[in-house]
Amino acid sequence: MKGHAESAAPFVANEPRAHWHDESLWFVRVKRDRQAATVPEWEDLRSTASAIKAHTLSRLADYLEEFERNATANGIHVHWARDGAEHNAIVLKILNDHGVKRLVKSKSMLTEECHLNPYLEAHGIEVTDTDLGERIVQMRKEPPSHIVLPAIHLKKEDIGELFHIQLGTEKGASDPKYLTEAARGHLRERFLGAQAGLTGVNFAIASTGGVVVCTNEGNADMGTSLPPIHIASMGVEKIVPRPRDLAIFLRLLARSATGQPVTTYTSHFHGPLPGGEMHVVIVDNGRARILGEEAFRRSLSCIRCGACMNTCPVYRRSGGYSYGYTVPGPIGSILGPQRDPAAYGSLPFASSLCGSCTDVCPVKIDLHHELLAFRQELAKKGYLPWQKRFSMWVMGQVLARKWAFLLGGRLMRTLMPLLPRALVYGPWNPWGKQRELPPMPRESFRDLLKKEPR
Ligand code: SF4
Repeated sequence: MKGHAESAAPFVANEPRAHWHDESLWFVRVKRDRQAATVPEWEDLRSTASAIKAHTLSRLADYLEEFERNATANGIHVHWARDGAEHNAIVLKILNDHGVKRLVKSKSMLTEECHLNPYLEAHGIEVTDTDLGERIVQMRKEPPSHIVLPAIHLKKEDIGELFHIQLGTEKGASDPKYLTEAARGHLRERFLGAQAGLTGVNFAIASTGGVVVCTNEGNADMGTSLPPIHIASMGVEKIVPRPRDLAIFLRLLARSATGQPVTTYTSHFHGPLPGGEMHVVIVDNGRARILGEEAFRRSLSCIRCGACMNTCPVYRRSGGYSYGYTVPGPIGSILGPQRDPAAYGSLPFASSLCGSCTDVCPVKIDLHHELLAFRQELAKKGYLPWQKRFSMWVMGQVLARKWAFLLGGRLMRTLMPLLPRALVYGPWNPWGKQRELPPMPRESFRDLLKKEPR
């Protein structure tokens, strides 16, 4: 599998689009800052959320069993899935048992992780993603490029062209209101024809046995109010102990995600519709293994707000597809290599380690330190490419010897200005692909310091 830098190349090559993507996400980051500033106790909320998550993870099995007991008492069928394959098989069985051929889905990164859509489609089920951004990328046969803003890599003109082809809108139309109306009409037909609805789960409350889904479009409510069967897919880490814990996370989630005070719809599901059925599928899919890794278990606290992506200079300039993993950005760069270090080993290096992700994370995951720790882990386990291992070895030798360091500096200052450009900016210099190296100083810092009056 290609590394992050190679995968980012096509996105980065389109400079105007990369710049526009960068600015669009920074706009969301600024909105987040404004909202956070309106809450005087913001830092207390973050600390409390972090403590609740740490406590819950330390008693995860107990809280999950409490949830199962209470959900079952509410008339919900609870299923357990070890991995994505089991999750998909459980969902398919529920659908087949009820003769369902048309399913509407609201946004769920877990089902993306499990590759549910292609699995169901291969078994003859028509799946419609009903979140507008997700529907757009589904029509383009692409995965989401961002966990909250799935189509953020697309301009309104791209969507106008897509809707013209798929929905018959006017050619060249790119007015967002017009396009949204067209999507609304199209989705309404799908909602009315659906035989079952599937949602993700933002939070599951152990003490009440209910689940909470946050959306801005009300699509989760439409998809679960019209068809009689509701399936909710949740990762084991979505559990919170009590409703009062939920209040902390709800104040943090929308502000961090999109800079709104609250999501437009915060829907609580505590049982099936009259005459209907509700199923919750609780999925592990590698999470228990992460829980066993002391250095990285805090990554399970993530509430998938996307704030770390909106602020990350690498994500903003390289786009979500450059990560090649379901969850991109700083948190994806920790989760991906935990799942498969050989495939995703380049991701912890796709970071400037500036720490901006850690600063905005509503649950205080120490993202940039975890990324640094992961680099060390990958190096220890031999997952670094030989070029990087060799260059680091050379650098280690130079830095360990004062004479080698001084000589190396002098050689670079003298030779670099004389070398042909093709040699300096060859394929061995990824740093110079889009940047000019700074001019070599004539004197070293040490020489300059010596000249300073004492
Ligand atoms: S790691 Fe933190 S900032 Fe990033 S998506 Fe998760 S909760 Fe949000």
